[in-house]
Amino acid sequence: MGAFDAVMSKTFDVIVVGAALNGLAAGLALGGHRARRPLSVAIIDRRDPRQALSRDSDGRASAITASSKRMFEALGVWEGVAPHMQEMGEIIVTDGRGPEARPVLLQFGESRSGEPASAFMTENHHLLQGLVDSVEKSPNITLVTGHAVAQQSFAPGLAKLTLANGEQLTCSLVVAADGGKSPLRQAAGVELVGWSYDQMGIVASFDHERPHGGRAEEHFTPAGPFAILPLPGNRSSIVWTKGTADAKKLLGLSPADFETELQNEIGTQLGRITLLGKAQGYPLLMHFAKEFHAARLALVGDAAHVIHPLAGLGLNLGLRDVAALAECVADAHALGQDIGGLAVLERYSAWRRFDTVATAASMDGLNRLFSNDNSFLRALRDLGLRATNQLSGVKQMFAREAAGQTGSLPRLLRGETV
Ligand SMILES: Cc1cc2nc3c(=O)[nH]c(=O)nc-3n(C[C@H](O)[C@H](O)[C@H](O)COP(=O)(O)OP(=O)(O)OC[C@H]3O[C@@H](n4cnc5c(N)ncnc54)[C@H](O)[C@@H]3O)c2cc1C
Repeated sequence: MGAFDAVMSKTFDVIVVGAALNGLAAGLALGGHRARRPLSVAIIDRRDPRQALSRDSDGRASAITASSKRMFEALGVWEGVAPHMQEMGEIIVTDGRGPEARPVLLQFGESRSGEPASAFMTENHHLLQGLVDSVEKSPNITLVTGHAVAQQSFAPGLAKLTLANGEQLTCSLVVAADGGKSPLRQAAGVELVGWSYDQMGIVASFDHERPHGGRAEEHFTPAGPFAILPLPGNRSSIVWTKGTADAKKLLGLSPADFETELQNEIGTQLGRITLLGKAQGYPLLMHFAKEFHAARLALVGDAAHVIHPLAGLGLNLGLRDVAALAECVADAHALGQDIGGLAVLERYSAWRRFDTVATAASMDGLNRLFSNDNSFLRALRDLGLRATNQLSGVKQMFAREAAGQTGSLPRLLRGETV
Protein backbone atom coordinates (compact mmCIF):
# COMPACT_ATOMS: atom_id res chain seq x y z
CA MET A 1 0.00 0.00 0.00
CA GLY A 2 1.44 3.43 -0.93
CA ALA A 3 1.84 6.16 1.62
CA PHE A 4 -1.15 8.20 0.54
CA ASP A 5 -3.59 5.42 -0.42
CA ALA A 6 -6.93 5.13 1.33
CA VAL A 7 -6.78 3.52 4.78
CA MET A 8 -7.25 -0.24 4.39
CA SER A 9 -6.50 -1.27 7.92
CA LYS A 10 -7.69 0.83 10.84
CA THR A 11 -5.22 -0.58 13.31
CA PHE A 12 -1.69 0.78 13.51
CA ASP A 13 1.25 0.47 15.88
CA VAL A 14 1.42 4.25 16.24
CA ILE A 15 -0.89 7.13 15.30
CA VAL A 16 0.68 10.59 15.01
CA VAL A 17 -1.81 13.47 15.20
CA GLY A 18 -0.54 16.53 13.31
CA ALA A 19 1.10 16.43 9.87
CA ALA A 20 3.20 19.59 10.20
CA LEU A 21 6.99 19.60 10.69
CA ASN A 22 7.21 17.67 13.97
CA GLY A 23 4.40 15.22 13.18
CA LEU A 24 5.85 14.25 9.79
CA ALA A 25 9.31 13.88 11.35
CA ALA A 26 7.81 11.64 14.07
CA GLY A 27 6.08 9.49 11.46
CA LEU A 28 9.36 9.09 9.57
CA ALA A 29 11.39 8.36 12.70
CA LEU A 30 9.00 5.56 13.71
CA GLY A 31 7.87 4.11 10.38
CA GLY A 32 9.83 5.81 7.60
CA HIS A 33 11.74 4.19 4.72
CA ARG A 34 15.04 4.61 6.59
CA ALA A 35 13.84 3.16 9.96
CA ARG A 36 15.61 -0.10 10.90
CA ARG A 37 12.43 -1.89 12.00
CA PRO A 38 9.62 0.37 10.72
CA LEU A 39 6.38 0.32 12.66
CA SER A 40 3.00 0.79 10.97
CA VAL A 41 2.16 4.45 11.39
CA ALA A 42 -0.84 6.67 10.55
CA ILE A 43 -0.34 10.44 10.45
CA ILE A 44 -3.62 12.30 10.85
CA ASP A 45 -4.29 15.98 10.14
CA ARG A 46 -7.40 17.99 9.45
CA ARG A 47 -5.47 19.83 6.72
CA ASP A 48 -3.49 18.15 3.96
CA PRO A 49 0.20 19.19 4.18
CA ARG A 50 0.41 18.90 0.39
CA GLN A 51 -2.00 21.86 0.19
CA ALA A 52 0.26 23.95 2.43
CA LEU A 53 3.52 23.90 0.46
CA SER A 54 3.83 27.64 -0.12
CA ARG A 55 5.19 30.73 1.61
CA ASP A 56 1.60 32.00 2.04
CA SER A 57 0.72 28.97 4.22
CA ASP A 58 3.74 29.39 6.52
CA GLY A 59 5.94 32.45 6.00
CA ARG A 60 8.42 31.40 8.69
CA ALA A 61 11.99 30.35 8.05
CA SER A 62 13.79 28.05 10.49
CA ALA A 63 17.31 27.88 11.80
CA ILE A 64 18.34 24.21 11.67
CA THR A 65 21.11 23.18 14.07
CA ALA A 66 23.87 20.74 13.12
CA SER A 67 22.24 17.93 15.12
CA SER A 68 18.85 18.51 13.45
CA LYS A 69 20.66 18.34 10.10
CA ARG A 70 22.14 14.97 11.07
CA MET A 71 18.65 13.77 12.00
CA PHE A 72 17.25 14.90 8.62
CA GLU A 73 20.11 12.99 6.95
CA ALA A 74 19.26 9.85 8.91
CA LEU A 75 15.57 10.19 7.99
CA GLY A 76 16.40 10.63 4.27
CA VAL A 77 15.08 14.21 4.20
CA TRP A 78 18.29 16.27 3.94
CA GLU A 79 19.11 15.48 0.31
CA GLY A 80 15.83 17.03 -0.85
CA VAL A 81 16.07 20.16 1.28
CA ALA A 82 19.84 20.82 1.00
CA PRO A 83 19.52 23.00 -2.16
CA HIS A 84 17.24 25.32 -0.15
CA MET A 85 19.58 25.60 2.84
CA GLN A 86 21.78 28.61 3.57
CA GLU A 87 24.78 28.08 5.87
CA MET A 88 24.94 30.56 8.73
CA GLY A 89 28.64 31.36 8.73
CA GLU A 90 28.45 34.13 11.29
CA ILE A 91 25.97 35.32 13.90
CA ILE A 92 26.14 38.76 15.45
CA VAL A 93 24.12 40.06 18.36
CA THR A 94 23.82 43.83 18.83
CA ASP A 95 22.26 46.36 21.08
CA GLY A 96 19.76 47.57 18.50
CA ARG A 97 18.78 51.08 19.44
CA GLY A 98 18.37 51.88 15.73
CA PRO A 99 19.97 51.02 12.37
CA GLU A 100 22.53 53.82 12.82
CA ALA A 101 23.74 52.77 16.32
CA ARG A 102 24.08 49.04 16.81
CA PRO A 103 27.13 48.20 18.90
CA VAL A 104 28.06 44.54 18.43
CA LEU A 105 27.79 42.69 21.73
CA LEU A 106 28.48 39.13 20.66
CA GLN A 107 29.86 37.50 17.54
CA PHE A 108 29.89 33.80 16.69
CA GLY A 109 31.70 32.03 13.91
CA GLU A 110 34.12 34.72 12.75
CA SER A 111 37.20 32.66 13.70
CA ARG A 112 35.94 29.30 12.57
CA SER A 113 36.15 29.60 8.77
CA GLY A 114 36.66 26.23 7.07
CA GLU A 115 34.78 24.37 9.81
CA PRO A 116 31.35 22.97 9.03
CA ALA A 117 28.53 25.45 9.73
CA SER A 118 26.78 25.04 13.07
CA ALA A 119 23.40 26.11 11.70
CA PHE A 120 21.47 26.50 8.44
CA MET A 121 18.48 28.60 7.44
CA THR A 122 15.59 27.56 5.22
CA GLU A 123 11.98 28.51 4.63
CA ASN A 124 9.48 26.23 6.36
CA HIS A 125 7.61 25.35 3.17
CA HIS A 126 10.78 23.75 1.77
CA LEU A 127 11.17 21.68 4.95
CA LEU A 128 7.53 20.59 4.75
CA GLN A 129 8.03 19.57 1.10
CA GLY A 130 11.11 17.50 2.02
CA LEU A 131 9.27 15.72 4.83
CA VAL A 132 6.20 15.02 2.65
CA ASP A 133 8.45 13.63 -0.12
CA SER A 134 10.06 11.22 2.37
CA VAL A 135 6.68 10.15 3.75
CA GLU A 136 5.59 9.40 0.18
CA LYS A 137 8.54 6.99 -0.11
CA SER A 138 7.52 5.17 3.08
CA PRO A 139 5.18 2.19 2.54
CA ASN A 140 4.56 1.78 6.30
CA ILE A 141 3.14 5.29 6.70
CA THR A 142 -0.46 6.19 5.88
CA LEU A 143 -1.46 9.84 5.74
CA VAL A 144 -5.10 10.45 6.73
CA THR A 145 -6.16 14.04 6.03
CA GLY A 146 -9.30 16.18 5.88
CA HIS A 147 -10.78 15.40 9.30
CA ALA A 148 -9.82 16.44 12.81
CA VAL A 149 -9.58 14.01 15.70
CA ALA A 150 -12.90 14.45 17.48
CA GLN A 151 -12.57 11.93 20.34
CA GLN A 152 -9.97 9.80 22.05
CA SER A 153 -10.40 6.90 24.42
CA PHE A 154 -8.08 4.43 26.07
CA ALA A 155 -8.59 0.82 27.04
CA PRO A 156 -5.91 -1.45 28.58
CA GLY A 157 -3.29 -1.97 25.89
CA LEU A 158 -5.08 0.14 23.28
CA ALA A 159 -5.85 3.74 22.26
CA LYS A 160 -8.80 4.59 20.01
CA LEU A 161 -9.21 7.83 18.04
CA THR A 162 -12.49 8.83 16.37
CA LEU A 163 -12.26 11.34 13.52
CA ALA A 164 -14.84 14.07 12.80
CA ASN A 165 -16.27 11.91 9.97
CA GLY A 166 -16.86 9.00 12.39
CA GLU A 167 -13.89 6.93 11.20
CA GLN A 168 -12.20 5.00 14.02
CA LEU A 169 -8.50 4.11 14.29
CA THR A 170 -6.76 2.11 16.99
CA CYS A 171 -3.11 1.80 18.02
CA SER A 172 -0.71 1.10 20.89
CA LEU A 173 0.68 4.64 21.07
CA VAL A 174 -0.68 8.07 20.11
CA VAL A 175 1.84 10.86 19.42
CA ALA A 176 0.38 14.35 19.88
CA ALA A 177 2.11 16.67 17.37
CA ASP A 178 -1.03 18.79 17.15
CA GLY A 179 0.51 22.20 17.93
CA GLY A 180 0.53 24.69 20.81
CA LYS A 181 -3.19 24.41 21.49
CA SER A 182 -2.97 20.60 21.32
CA PRO A 183 -6.57 19.32 21.61
CA LEU A 184 -5.12 15.89 22.54
CA ARG A 185 -3.13 17.37 25.45
CA GLN A 186 -6.21 19.23 26.67
CA ALA A 187 -8.46 16.17 26.39
CA ALA A 188 -5.91 14.14 28.38
CA GLY A 189 -6.01 16.80 31.14
CA VAL A 190 -2.26 17.57 30.99
CA GLU A 191 -1.69 21.00 32.56
CA LEU A 192 0.50 23.79 31.20
CA VAL A 193 2.90 26.22 32.89
CA GLY A 194 3.54 29.49 31.03
CA TRP A 195 2.41 32.90 29.88
CA SER A 196 2.01 35.04 26.80
CA TYR A 197 4.36 37.96 26.09
CA ASP A 198 2.05 40.62 24.64
CA GLN A 199 4.49 40.55 21.71
CA MET A 200 4.11 39.33 18.14
CA GLY A 201 6.78 37.95 15.84
CA ILE A 202 6.35 39.43 12.36
CA VAL A 203 7.88 37.20 9.69
CA ALA A 204 8.59 38.06 6.07
CA SER A 205 11.09 37.19 3.35
CA PHE A 206 12.63 39.62 0.92
CA ASP A 207 15.14 39.99 -1.91
CA HIS A 208 17.96 42.48 -1.51
CA GLU A 209 20.62 44.07 -3.73
CA ARG A 210 23.78 43.21 -1.77
CA PRO A 211 24.92 39.77 -0.56
CA HIS A 212 24.41 38.87 3.13
CA GLY A 213 27.59 36.77 3.23
CA GLY A 214 25.84 34.08 5.31
CA ARG A 215 25.60 36.43 8.28
CA ALA A 216 22.66 36.30 10.69
CA GLU A 217 21.99 39.39 12.78
CA GLU A 218 19.96 39.74 15.93
CA HIS A 219 19.35 43.29 17.16
CA PHE A 220 17.93 43.59 20.65
CA THR A 221 15.59 46.58 20.51
CA PRO A 222 13.52 47.80 23.47
CA ALA A 223 10.40 46.32 21.80
CA GLY A 224 12.08 42.90 21.44
CA PRO A 225 14.62 41.14 19.21
CA PHE A 226 14.78 41.93 15.50
CA ALA A 227 16.46 39.11 13.54
CA ILE A 228 17.69 39.27 9.93
CA LEU A 229 18.38 35.72 8.76
CA PRO A 230 20.17 34.72 5.54
CA LEU A 231 18.45 32.55 2.90
CA PRO A 232 20.03 31.16 -0.30
CA GLY A 233 20.96 33.85 -2.85
CA ASN A 234 20.39 37.53 -2.18
CA ARG A 235 17.41 36.72 0.02
CA SER A 236 16.75 37.02 3.74
CA SER A 237 13.99 36.50 6.24
CA ILE A 238 13.09 38.47 9.37
CA VAL A 239 11.56 37.81 12.76
CA TRP A 240 10.58 41.30 13.92
CA THR A 241 9.35 41.30 17.51
CA LYS A 242 6.99 44.11 18.42
CA GLY A 243 4.43 44.79 21.14
CA THR A 244 1.07 43.36 20.02
CA ALA A 245 -0.59 46.73 19.26
CA ASP A 246 2.38 48.02 17.19
CA ALA A 247 2.71 44.68 15.38
CA LYS A 248 -0.94 44.82 14.36
CA LYS A 249 -0.43 48.34 13.00
CA LEU A 250 2.54 47.18 10.91
CA LEU A 251 0.65 44.14 9.64
CA GLY A 252 -2.25 46.42 8.63
CA LEU A 253 -0.02 48.50 6.31
CA SER A 254 -0.09 48.12 2.53
CA PRO A 255 2.80 45.93 1.23
CA ALA A 256 4.57 49.06 -0.10
CA ASP A 257 4.32 50.89 3.24
CA PHE A 258 5.40 47.77 5.16
CA GLU A 259 8.39 47.46 2.85
CA THR A 260 9.39 51.08 3.62
CA GLU A 261 9.13 50.48 7.39
CA LEU A 262 11.18 47.30 7.06
CA GLN A 263 13.82 49.04 4.95
CA ASN A 264 14.11 51.73 7.65
CA GLU A 265 14.51 49.07 10.36
CA ILE A 266 17.14 47.11 8.41
CA GLY A 267 19.15 50.13 7.29
CA THR A 268 21.23 50.24 4.14
CA GLN A 269 23.73 47.37 4.49
CA LEU A 270 21.75 45.00 2.24
CA GLY A 271 20.87 47.70 -0.31
CA ARG A 272 17.31 48.07 -1.52
CA ILE A 273 14.91 45.33 -0.38
CA THR A 274 11.87 43.86 -2.19
CA LEU A 275 9.26 42.05 -0.12
CA LEU A 276 8.33 38.48 -1.18
CA GLY A 277 4.71 37.62 -0.38
CA LYS A 278 2.85 39.03 2.60
CA ALA A 279 4.20 39.57 6.11
CA GLN A 280 2.60 37.31 8.75
CA GLY A 281 2.30 37.76 12.53
CA TYR A 282 2.55 35.13 15.28
CA PRO A 283 1.53 35.89 18.90
CA LEU A 284 4.50 35.00 21.12
CA LEU A 285 4.16 32.90 24.23
CA MET A 286 6.04 30.49 26.42
CA HIS A 287 4.55 27.37 27.90
CA PHE A 288 5.43 23.80 28.60
CA ALA A 289 3.38 20.81 29.62
CA LYS A 290 3.76 19.64 33.23
CA GLU A 291 4.12 16.10 31.89
CA PHE A 292 5.13 15.08 28.38
CA HIS A 293 2.91 12.01 28.49
CA ALA A 294 -0.45 10.61 29.59
CA ALA A 295 -1.94 7.13 29.16
CA ARG A 296 -0.76 5.85 25.74
CA LEU A 297 -0.03 9.44 24.71
CA ALA A 298 3.34 11.18 24.09
CA LEU A 299 3.50 14.95 23.49
CA VAL A 300 6.08 16.27 21.00
CA GLY A 301 6.93 19.68 19.51
CA ASP A 302 4.67 22.63 20.19
CA ALA A 303 2.11 20.30 21.80
CA ALA A 304 4.67 19.85 24.61
CA HIS A 305 6.33 23.30 24.65
CA VAL A 306 6.27 26.69 22.94
CA ILE A 307 9.25 29.01 23.50
CA HIS A 308 10.20 32.56 22.48
CA PRO A 309 11.67 32.39 18.96
CA LEU A 310 14.61 34.69 19.73
CA ALA A 311 17.25 31.98 19.27
CA GLY A 312 15.31 29.99 16.65
CA LEU A 313 15.29 26.84 18.74
CA GLY A 314 11.58 25.83 18.91
CA LEU A 315 11.52 23.39 16.02
CA ASN A 316 14.94 22.02 16.98
CA LEU A 317 13.60 21.24 20.47
CA GLY A 318 10.63 19.48 18.85
CA LEU A 319 12.97 17.39 16.70
CA ARG A 320 14.89 16.42 19.86
CA ASP A 321 11.57 15.21 21.32
CA VAL A 322 10.91 13.16 18.21
CA ALA A 323 14.41 11.64 18.26
CA ALA A 324 14.21 10.74 21.96
CA LEU A 325 10.72 9.25 21.63
CA ALA A 326 11.69 7.22 18.56
CA GLU A 327 14.65 5.79 20.46
CA CYS A 328 12.55 4.87 23.52
CA VAL A 329 9.92 3.22 21.30
CA ALA A 330 12.48 1.41 19.09
CA ASP A 331 14.34 0.04 22.13
CA ALA A 332 11.07 -1.28 23.62
CA HIS A 333 10.02 -2.75 20.25
CA ALA A 334 13.36 -4.57 19.87
CA LEU A 335 12.84 -6.15 23.30
CA GLY A 336 9.25 -7.15 22.49
CA GLN A 337 7.86 -4.72 25.10
CA ASP A 338 4.64 -2.68 24.91
CA ILE A 339 5.62 0.40 22.84
CA GLY A 340 2.88 2.55 24.41
CA GLY A 341 3.41 1.29 27.96
CA LEU A 342 4.17 3.45 30.98
CA ALA A 343 7.87 2.48 31.12
CA VAL A 344 8.47 3.81 27.59
CA LEU A 345 6.48 7.00 28.21
CA GLU A 346 8.15 7.75 31.53
CA ARG A 347 11.63 7.25 30.05
CA TYR A 348 10.73 9.65 27.23
CA SER A 349 9.25 12.30 29.53
CA ALA A 350 12.20 12.23 31.93
CA TRP A 351 14.66 12.48 29.03
CA ARG A 352 13.06 15.57 27.49
CA ARG A 353 11.63 17.68 30.30
CA PHE A 354 14.88 19.05 31.76
CA ASP A 355 16.35 20.17 28.41
CA THR A 356 13.05 21.81 27.47
CA VAL A 357 12.51 23.69 30.72
CA ALA A 358 16.16 24.88 30.76
CA THR A 359 15.94 26.18 27.16
CA ALA A 360 12.52 27.80 27.68
CA ALA A 361 13.76 29.54 30.84
CA SER A 362 16.89 30.95 29.15
CA MET A 363 14.86 32.27 26.20
CA ASP A 364 12.38 33.83 28.62
CA GLY A 365 15.17 35.42 30.68
CA LEU A 366 16.92 36.87 27.62
CA ASN A 367 13.67 38.31 26.29
CA ARG A 368 12.91 39.96 29.63
CA LEU A 369 16.45 41.31 30.00
CA PHE A 370 16.53 42.83 26.52
CA SER A 371 12.93 43.85 25.72
CA ASN A 372 12.97 47.06 27.72
CA ASP A 373 14.68 50.42 27.79
CA ASN A 374 15.75 50.48 31.43
CA SER A 375 19.19 52.19 31.40
CA PHE A 376 20.51 50.25 34.40
CA LEU A 377 19.59 46.89 32.82
CA ARG A 378 20.98 48.10 29.49
CA ALA A 379 24.37 48.94 31.05
CA LEU A 380 24.43 45.68 32.95
CA ARG A 381 23.66 43.47 29.97
CA ASP A 382 26.08 45.35 27.66
CA LEU A 383 28.83 44.79 30.19
CA GLY A 384 27.89 41.15 30.60
CA LEU A 385 27.81 40.38 26.91
CA ARG A 386 30.99 42.33 26.10
CA ALA A 387 32.76 40.33 28.77
CA THR A 388 31.37 37.13 27.29
CA ASN A 389 32.64 38.15 23.87
CA GLN A 390 36.18 38.12 25.23
CA LEU A 391 35.83 34.60 26.59
CA SER A 392 36.19 32.49 23.50
CA GLY A 393 35.77 29.28 25.52
CA VAL A 394 32.38 30.38 26.72
CA LYS A 395 31.44 31.50 23.22
CA GLN A 396 32.41 28.10 21.84
CA MET A 397 30.19 26.48 24.45
CA PHE A 398 27.27 28.72 23.42
CA ALA A 399 27.91 27.87 19.78
CA ARG A 400 28.00 24.13 20.50
CA GLU A 401 24.81 24.42 22.53
CA ALA A 402 23.12 26.36 19.73
CA ALA A 403 24.22 23.60 17.36
CA GLY A 404 22.77 20.92 19.62
CA GLN A 405 26.12 19.24 20.24
CA THR A 406 25.92 19.16 24.03
CA GLY A 407 24.01 16.97 26.46
CA SER A 408 22.81 13.41 26.00
CA LEU A 409 21.87 13.19 22.34
CA PRO A 410 19.46 10.59 21.01
CA ARG A 411 20.87 8.40 18.22
CA LEU A 412 18.94 10.14 15.43
CA LEU A 413 20.56 13.47 16.35
CA ARG A 414 23.94 11.80 15.99
CA GLY A 415 22.90 10.79 12.47
CA GLU A 416 22.15 7.12 13.28
CA THR A 417 18.87 5.43 12.37
CA VAL A 418 16.74 3.72 15.04
C1 LIG B 1 7.88 33.76 14.54
C2 LIG B 1 8.42 32.38 14.78
C3 LIG B 1 9.69 32.04 14.31
C4 LIG B 1 10.23 30.78 14.57
N1 LIG B 1 11.51 30.49 14.12
C5 LIG B 1 12.06 29.29 14.44
C6 LIG B 1 13.41 28.96 14.04
O1 LIG B 1 14.12 29.74 13.42
N2 LIG B 1 13.89 27.73 14.39
C7 LIG B 1 13.17 26.84 15.10
O2 LIG B 1 13.69 25.77 15.43
N3 LIG B 1 11.88 27.11 15.47
C8 LIG B 1 11.31 28.31 15.15
N4 LIG B 1 10.03 28.58 15.53
C9 LIG B 1 9.24 27.54 16.20
C10 LIG B 1 8.67 26.53 15.19
O3 LIG B 1 8.16 27.21 14.06
C11 LIG B 1 7.59 25.68 15.83
O4 LIG B 1 8.11 25.15 17.04
C12 LIG B 1 7.18 24.51 14.92
O5 LIG B 1 6.79 24.96 13.65
C13 LIG B 1 6.03 23.71 15.57
O6 LIG B 1 5.65 22.63 14.72
P1 LIG B 1 4.63 21.51 15.21
O7 LIG B 1 4.63 20.49 14.09
O8 LIG B 1 4.96 21.06 16.59
O9 LIG B 1 3.20 22.24 15.34
P2 LIG B 1 2.26 22.96 14.28
O10 LIG B 1 3.04 23.52 13.15
O11 LIG B 1 1.40 23.89 15.06
O12 LIG B 1 1.34 21.79 13.67
C14 LIG B 1 0.26 21.20 14.32
C15 LIG B 1 -0.57 20.41 13.30
O13 LIG B 1 -1.60 19.69 13.99
C16 LIG B 1 -2.81 19.76 13.25
N5 LIG B 1 -3.92 19.56 14.20
C17 LIG B 1 -4.19 20.29 15.32
N6 LIG B 1 -5.27 19.78 15.96
C18 LIG B 1 -5.68 18.70 15.24
C19 LIG B 1 -6.74 17.75 15.38
N7 LIG B 1 -7.61 17.79 16.41
N8 LIG B 1 -6.88 16.78 14.46
C20 LIG B 1 -6.02 16.71 13.41
N9 LIG B 1 -5.00 17.57 13.22
C21 LIG B 1 -4.82 18.55 14.12
C22 LIG B 1 -2.76 21.17 12.61
O14 LIG B 1 -3.59 21.24 11.47
C23 LIG B 1 -1.28 21.30 12.27
O15 LIG B 1 -0.98 20.84 10.95
C24 LIG B 1 9.48 29.83 15.30
C25 LIG B 1 8.19 30.15 15.74
C26 LIG B 1 7.67 31.42 15.50
C27 LIG B 1 6.28 31.77 16.01
